[in-house]
This record gives sequence, C-alpha cells and structure tokens, in this order.
Amino acid sequence: MLSQPSTVLYVEDNEGNRMLVRRVLEAEGYSVLEAGNATEGFELAQEKRPDLILIDINLPETDGLTLTSRLKATPSFMSTPIIAITANVMRGDRERSLAAGCDGYIQKPIDVDFLPLQIAQYLQPDSHTGS
Ligand code: MN
Repeated sequence: MLSQPSTVLYVEDNEGNRMLVRRVLEAEGYSVLEAGNATEGFELAQEKRPDLILIDINLPETDGLTLTSRLKATPSFMSTPIIAITANVMRGDRERSLAAGCDGYIQKPIDVDFLPLQIAQYLQPDSHTGS
C-alpha cells in the first residue's frame, strides 16, 4: 500500500476495461480517474495532474498515440509517465508507441496480477527507460 495515494488517469473507451483497471488499482491504494475519449482525457489530465497516465491506443476519433503526442508536447506533462495499452499485436506497435512519446507499453488482455507492479515501476523516478 502506498503511503500517499498516487493518481492514475486511464483513457479507455471500453467500460469493462475501465472497471477492471479501476478495481485492481484501487485495491492497491491508487486513486483512479477515467476518461472515455482523448478530448476528455486531455481535459482531465490538465485539471487533475495525474502521476501516471494509461492510454488505450485504439480510441474513437482522436487515437491514443495522438493524445500521447499532445500531452508530451505540453510542458506540464513532459515528465509524466504515459503507458500505451493496445489489443493490437501487429509488429511496430511498440515502436510507434515509443515514437509518440509513450514511456512504456502494455498489451491487452491486461494481466491484472502484473499491472500493479508495472505501474509502480513507472512511478519510480529512475525507471523511465522506455522498456
Ligand atoms: Mn479502445
């Protein structure tokens, strides 16, 4: 359990995934914010300044990589860890995610046993290796 709750913003259009991630992360002591599309996600990020942002690549209208680029181009989010989440197993997704500025990459289906560890690693200041 974290002594001071970290806030995670999850931008995802699939409600089932949002509920799953919220349940898992809240059980670990995180505060979880949800947005269903990129516009909401950008606004919520600006308003709440989360410690870490999870972004589904496949969002309606503006996709998750475009949102990532927008966030990383905004000074207040340059150092905020952003992790891409995708169901696509096509080669090149990891590279495209990193090129868009994502600090990491998680593939669906989300491994709920592993997710908290992944999040915790990205919240450590020295762990932004992009792997
Ligand atoms: Mn989606």
